[in-house]
Parts: sequence; C-alpha cells; structure tokens
Amino acid sequence: MHFHIITLFPKAFDSYLGESILKRAREDKKIRFSFYNPRDYTRDKFRRIDRPPYAGGPGMVIQAEPVIFAIDAAIKRSKKNPKIVFLSPSGKQVTNKYADGIVRKVKDLIIICGRYEGIDARVKKVFKTEEVSVGPFVLTGGELAAEILIDVVARRLPGVLGNLNSLEERRTAAKDVYTRPESFKHKGKTYRVPKVLLSGHRALIEEWKKSKR
Ligand code: SAH
Repeated sequence: MHFHIITLFPKAFDSYLGESILKRAREDKKIRFSFYNPRDYTRDKFRRIDRPPYAGGPGMVIQAEPVIFAIDAAIKRSKKNPKIVFLSPSGKQVTNKYADGIVRKVKDLIIICGRYEGIDARVKKVFKTEEVSVGPFVLTGGELAAEILIDVVARRLPGVLGNLNSLEERRTAAKDVYTRPESFKHKGKTYRVPKVLLSGHRALIEEWKKSKR
C-alpha cells in the first residue's frame, strides 16, 4: 500500500514510521510513504499558507489552493482511484473494520493532515474525500492521527505482522500476557505467571484467555 501524506510537518513522521514493525514493512516494500508539503505548492513568495478565518474567530486557517495542488501531485503519483481521507475530529471514527475495508479496496491512500483551525473547506468540494477521526478528542494537528490510521491499516496488510495470527480478531487474544521468568520478587512479594499458562493444557488455556478478554 502506498500512503501519500499531505502535511506541513513531514518530519513529525520520521520517528514513529522509522521504528520496529512499520520500519521493517517499509524495508520489505509492503508499505510505501510519500510526503507532500502544501508549503512547497504555494505561490506566495514568503511560502505562507495560513490566513485568518473569514467572519472572524480564533486561530488560522490553511489555504485551500496549496493543499489542492499537493493533493493533485499525490493523485498523479497514484496508480488508480486513490482514496482520499481528510482527518478531522468530527469525522467518522476509525475502527479495525474501517481499516479492513481500506486493506481490501485501496492501493493508494491519500491522507490530509490539518493544523491550526483546520483547512479551508473548499478542498472538500474539489475532491471526493472521506472525513475520519481517530477518537473523541481534539489534537493539535493531523500528523499523529495519520500515524494512527497508517498503523491500524498497515498491521492488517498481509506480511506486515510476522504471523497473521497476531491480529487479535483472528484468535482469542488475552488482554494480559506473560513471559519469562516464571516468578520474580519485588519488595518482598513474589509475582508468578498464572499456573494455567504453564499447564500445557490447550483447552484450559483458551478458556482462561476468553475469561480475560
Ligand atoms: N477547530 C478544528 C480543530 C482543528 S484541530 C475543528 O474543530 O475541526 C487541527 C487538525 O488536527 C484538524 O484539522 C485535523 O486534521 C487534526 N485532528 C485533530 N483532532 C483529530 C482527531 N481526533 N482525529 C483526526 N484528526 C484530528
């Protein structure tokens, strides 16, 4: 899957996408990222992209045209029918099911990250976009939201997790997990792994996991 990210702050993505599973997925060419900074598409000689809102109100609004040109560039680099998502706290909630739909249908996902008071709403008139939210709270920008969306989608792509069984929904995943050692002491108290997990009794273990969900 090719993620095309429209952002004023591409560096905000380096650390999270550059570690662990997502890093490996990128190296294995299971996922790919391209960044488009609206600032590179402005015609303003000071490369300014934010202006005060019409009719007043707090904060600044990102101008439509630099974002539109950035999206045009992303569409040009897409194979066919890219899906365009517009990150917004009032969008539809991202879920595992939503991510599955993307995995099934989409090869190029264009993600638009807002900042400040948001982006001039006319962008949504120019392109068919879907507004999505990563949760019932307001972030200072769409970058973190985009990382969440990318993570949720990427781990559902074949080959990204070492073992597809790692997807919680395909097995009985326990909320609590344990590893070595079998017991340790901390401030005089002993902490043990639940006995059932050491029993080797598959059915009992499954039952225990279910009870812990
Ligand atoms: N006044 C704006 C708030 C903008 S927050 C409004 O109510 O829409 C700045 C940007 O952060 C938004 O444009 C959006 O891209 C992103 N953002 C903030 N919270 C988000 C959330 N919960 N999910 C997805 N994107 C979010």
